[in-house]
Amino acid sequence: MFSGKSLFCAFFVAFASNAVFLISELPAKASSSLAAWTLERSGVLKLRTSKGIEPKVFFQSSDAFKGDRVWIDFPGELIRPRALSGTGPIKEIRLGKPSKGITRFVVEFKSSISLDPSNLKLEGVKPDLWHLDFVDIPLKGLKRIGEGNLIRPPNRPTKLLTRNTGSIPSRISDLPIVPKGRFRVVIDPGHGGPDSGAVGIRGIRETDVVLDISLQISRILEQRGVNIYLTRRSEIDLDLPPRVAKANQLGADAFVSVHANASRGIRRDVNGIETFYFAGSRGFKLASFIQNEILKVSPGSPDRGVRRGRFFVIRRTIMPAVLVETGFLTGRLDASRLAKFSHRKNLAFAISKGILLYLKEAR
Ligand SMILES: [Zn+2]
Repeated sequence: MFSGKSLFCAFFVAFASNAVFLISELPAKASSSLAAWTLERSGVLKLRTSKGIEPKVFFQSSDAFKGDRVWIDFPGELIRPRALSGTGPIKEIRLGKPSKGITRFVVEFKSSISLDPSNLKLEGVKPDLWHLDFVDIPLKGLKRIGEGNLIRPPNRPTKLLTRNTGSIPSRISDLPIVPKGRFRVVIDPGHGGPDSGAVGIRGIRETDVVLDISLQISRILEQRGVNIYLTRRSEIDLDLPPRVAKANQLGADAFVSVHANASRGIRRDVNGIETFYFAGSRGFKLASFIQNEILKVSPGSPDRGVRRGRFFVIRRTIMPAVLVETGFLTGRLDASRLAKFSHRKNLAFAISKGILLYLKEAR
């Protein structure tokens, strides 16, 4: 472990030169730089962030309504502000969006606890890892709590997802045929980089799952003569507006954003497939074709339907656009399937077939 600011800074400068990795034609930014955190039973809060950021720590002593609070601000915005109840000395942990471009991580203590702010130090352990040891607090009843993976997964999909380098599936010949070179389709793997999206059973991450499915879709459709544009091909931090801007600028025929779901309260019994469109009969058709095909390869997973949604990427794109939720990473049935390459391959085939059926009808 490295302690002391100067040592950490030296460490950071050494890392900064190779920390940036972006697709050149897309501006990328803005999702939260907080990637994962845990509060250990030892009272140590561990935070993983993007490299090269500087979190700011604040302390506020208790008042009539709230206990002592410690909060840390990070650059970038959360997608989903949330609160988790604490155990032992902790009343609640909140992740919020106090103002544009900021993620706030708040630890609120029970009213019986009083902290000495001079003991609070956020220590840079690595360029992307921070520790804050709450030395004052009684540890009785404190249970480990956290979200995401503290150890940064490799930039490429993790071991679980590395079998996707194999050849193009042989069943491509079974897919509908569309005129070669006629259509342009944008495939948008949701999230990316420090925004891992949903984190499910055994730490399975949405960003890895949807990137793998999307890369497979692009290979399948390219084999069928469709011009494909992927909004990202790796683990980069990519905001929503550039995804939409690129699709609109290309004059794409269809836009498909690929996601995986998480249930509130992480209910393992909640599984299912849903596809969203924003408006228009063509968007509805595209969503319906895809939903039907996904259901065929997801036996037992409930049909949550083709639904209207107001997600930014489908609301602001000017072509028929859909957002596909390929299953629940928090659901026992869906998560175990989404962890398997064979299922992700089936999903890629299903979504590709849905897109081709739509294009065939649209021409
Ligand atoms: Zn998502």
